[in-house]
Amino acid sequence: MGGQKEIVAYFYDPEVGNFHYGQGHPMKPHRLAVTHSLVLHYGLYKKLQIYRPYRANFHDMTRFHSEDYIDFLMRVSPQNVQNYTKSLGQFNMADDCPVFEGLYDFCSMYTGASLEGAVKLNHDCCDIAINWSGGLHHAKKFEASGFCYVNDIVIAILELLKYHPRVLYIDIDIHHGDGVQEAFYLTDRVMTVSFHKYGNYFFPGTGDMFELGHESGRYYSVNVPLKEGIDDASYIQIFKPIIEYVMQYYRPTAIVLQCGADSLGGDRLGCFSLSTKGHGECVTYTKSFGIPLLVLGGGGYTPRNVARCWAYETGLLVDTEMTHDIPYTTEYFQYFAPDFTLHPEVVTRSENGNSRQYLEAIVKHVQDNLKMLEHAPSVQMQDTAPDGLKFEDDSELDPDIRLHIKEEDKRIEAVNEFYDDDNDNDKEELKDPQG
Ligand SMILES: [Zn+2]
Repeated sequence: MGGQKEIVAYFYDPEVGNFHYGQGHPMKPHRLAVTHSLVLHYGLYKKLQIYRPYRANFHDMTRFHSEDYIDFLMRVSPQNVQNYTKSLGQFNMADDCPVFEGLYDFCSMYTGASLEGAVKLNHDCCDIAINWSGGLHHAKKFEASGFCYVNDIVIAILELLKYHPRVLYIDIDIHHGDGVQEAFYLTDRVMTVSFHKYGNYFFPGTGDMFELGHESGRYYSVNVPLKEGIDDASYIQIFKPIIEYVMQYYRPTAIVLQCGADSLGGDRLGCFSLSTKGHGECVTYTKSFGIPLLVLGGGGYTPRNVARCWAYETGLLVDTEMTHDIPYTTEYFQYFAPDFTLHPEVVTRSENGNSRQYLEAIVKHVQDNLKMLEHAPSVQMQDTAPDGLKFEDDSELDPDIRLHIKEEDKRIEAVNEFYDDDNDNDKEELKDPQG
């Protein structure tokens, strides 16, 4: 047992595991119920502040998405879907992103949990916030993509930006975090760092190492394209130096970590060879910087392994060792046959296609680009007073969030004039009992 100092808030809606994307669809929300059962039966709840989360509404979702897209999500159902054939095409709601019973409620639950996690971090109500139902990184402003409808990550980051001058987004899902990168491609207020499989038309097809960001956001998008079969040792060999450099050069004031579990070996859709321990080491390393942290789920298509991984990572976040044997009291005990352990042997389906030289070259490429930040004078490296940055009235904001962010940049610059250093950031006034 470690000495846990951090307050860890954990968001779980008991209904979120009851949704079905449809027969044969690889995305199974039930994995969330299995994860939660392990969290409870391992006794981790004793170290968590467990919340039944807020449900995001139309206004919350349209902070990023277009109104006509969210309006469509609210209205469409399996019963009336035949009246919406044109909209289905317009919003990319085909095979990957089907219309299913309760779709809008599902989006509302997972998005509300991420948003509330961001609010609690903003108000210093916790040090770490966990929402395993969130992390749907492919959703776009105008359309669904890759099993994702509403981008809870973008919405949570927009909330963090009310109080935080620089937010770091880290994505360890096997797929490129394209929706989040695209949303913040033009701004230096958010740095996105995605580690993913790239090449051979692997979904979504973006995320090569030369996607760096644009305009004010140039060098603030970091992409780490990987080949199939990467194992723990290779992954850690790149993850730690890259994140260390990012921390050093970007100095984020909040971190959002997307923990997609489809990067584990044996995933139904993935082709990496990470173990739960290797995956978890990324979580531990990110936590070690002691910066306010929002931890989210994401992909993961072998449900028993997703549950193992996220329960284990919950344990890491509360500094609690967990027994190798799965508690037999969990109602899903039979899912973990034949070994009934937390860390079964990793299934390796493909050889590691990432040579040491290839990985070293990528790390060097990322480091060279990060060094460019030193030469780019920017408002973002100034300290920011947390007070006075709450913009409740966003009626004047441009629907384009990129402009919205630029506007906040200006305000932060103005507020900064009155503060010399971090010691002036008195957060006491910000504590909000409702937060
Ligand atoms: Zn994925």
